[in-house]
Amino acid sequence: MTFEYAILGGGVAGLSLSSFLDGKAVVLERQDTVGGLSRSYSMNGVDYDIGPHIIFSKNKEVLDLHSTMVETNKIRRSNQIVFKGRYVKYPFENDLAALEPTDRDYCLQEFLNNPYENYHGSNMLQFFLSVFGEGITHLYLQPYNEKIWKFDPSCMDTQMVERIPKPPREDVIASAQGVATEGYTHQLYYHYPAKGGFQTLVNEYKDRAEAKGQDVRTSVNVRSLEKQPNGWKITTDTDEVYAKQLINCIPIHELFKLLSPPAEIKSTLDRLLYNSIYIVMVQVKKDTIGEHFALYVPDKDVVFHRLSKLNYLGESYCLPDGGSTLMAEVTFRPNSYLATLSEADIVDQVIDGLVKVGFIEREDILDTQVKVERYAYVIYDLDHRKNVDVLLSYLEEQGIRSAGRFAEFEYLNTDGVVERTLKLARSLNASTPAD
Ligand SMILES: Cc1cc2nc3c(=O)[nH]c(=O)nc-3n(C[C@H](O)[C@H](O)[C@H](O)COP(=O)(O)OP(=O)(O)OC[C@H]3O[C@@H](n4cnc5c(N)ncnc54)[C@H](O)[C@@H]3O)c2cc1C
Repeated sequence: MTFEYAILGGGVAGLSLSSFLDGKAVVLERQDTVGGLSRSYSMNGVDYDIGPHIIFSKNKEVLDLHSTMVETNKIRRSNQIVFKGRYVKYPFENDLAALEPTDRDYCLQEFLNNPYENYHGSNMLQFFLSVFGEGITHLYLQPYNEKIWKFDPSCMDTQMVERIPKPPREDVIASAQGVATEGYTHQLYYHYPAKGGFQTLVNEYKDRAEAKGQDVRTSVNVRSLEKQPNGWKITTDTDEVYAKQLINCIPIHELFKLLSPPAEIKSTLDRLLYNSIYIVMVQVKKDTIGEHFALYVPDKDVVFHRLSKLNYLGESYCLPDGGSTLMAEVTFRPNSYLATLSEADIVDQVIDGLVKVGFIEREDILDTQVKVERYAYVIYDLDHRKNVDVLLSYLEEQGIRSAGRFAEFEYLNTDGVVERTLKLARSLNASTPAD
């Protein structure tokens, strides 16, 4: 048979899109389990994601959908920045009183009397200086961003940060005086699946797609894509699939392995930058972190940038005999020094960091696990927009549409991905009559 749509990739993009489309679609996923970056794994009965995938959105339609399609716990944010041995409530500028007095006054004075204020920052570092001032930038934003991106913020553009609102002066003044205020209020409450990790939501998209008659296939190795007069022939290890339209939801680098682009397109692709990630899980006998979920660690002597305590997500994420399940995240650029270390080295460095910051004692460790994802974070280097536009236009010319985080090469969370698949499905449903 000929499908209306062949969708490459069974992550949130491919699955949500297939569930929204009216025409008959086949989803081709390489792994034996759907979900991609939104997959969950299990460790001694505790389910965890590749970085805890919380459900939040500024888009009400997507937020309503994701917070109701599976049973969720509604959770109030309790994130802290670990700075010089102190806990500073996130976002940093809303808890300046937690700093030692010299740091507090440095941040406040430079925020109130900011010589960069009237410049429109043309890169990420300049943006931070103009919006937050030198103190908050140099003590926290710059080192933390250098750590997560493994790339200098002065060589990154402002696409990611330009929507960050300037904190109100009165809030920052109040925060320095110890009066509680909240920043980024759209993330103050979030949802998380009551059990099963984020995979529950992924599975629900798959179920909805299949209930509609869509064909979701796993363990499929696509060998080639061939454009034909009436659509596409997709050759896999086991058969041939025919579809009138092709939609790409796999990382753009993986798609281009199946195409034969001209040299200048290939060299544009080679200029896209991204980070990979190690997720290091550590289960320990005690809980030394208190009622907090995510801890941000700008200290460069500690290898991970973020530590999460999964107990905070609800009862089913707690170990039956007490203790806690910790998740440390370590980003690295492919082919960089960190990429040459073994998984065992990374686990050792994470444990050293946990001990150094005082989060655990070595003798309390129960178990460890590690996962690696190649495509984790898009880096918005200064040429990102130009390069991505060239590549996506080339694909459009070939008749290939793109949807998803690494397919579109944008920093998209699942809500952003689904916002785009909803829009794409609506336009395709309007232009393609259902069978
Ligand atoms: C550390 C981290 C934390 C995050 N936290 C959150 C969060 O808190 N909240 C949130 O909403 N989002 C979060 N995200 C973002 C979220 O993971 C992504 O937005 C989402 O999973 C992207 O879905 P996707 O389908 O576009 O891509 P992917 O999940 O990358 O899916 C692509 C799929 O294509 C498959 N594939 C690859 N090559 C081929 C091939 N040749 N043939 C067939 N299939 C192939 C892959 O196996 C994969 O299943 C986080 C991401 C990371 C890395």
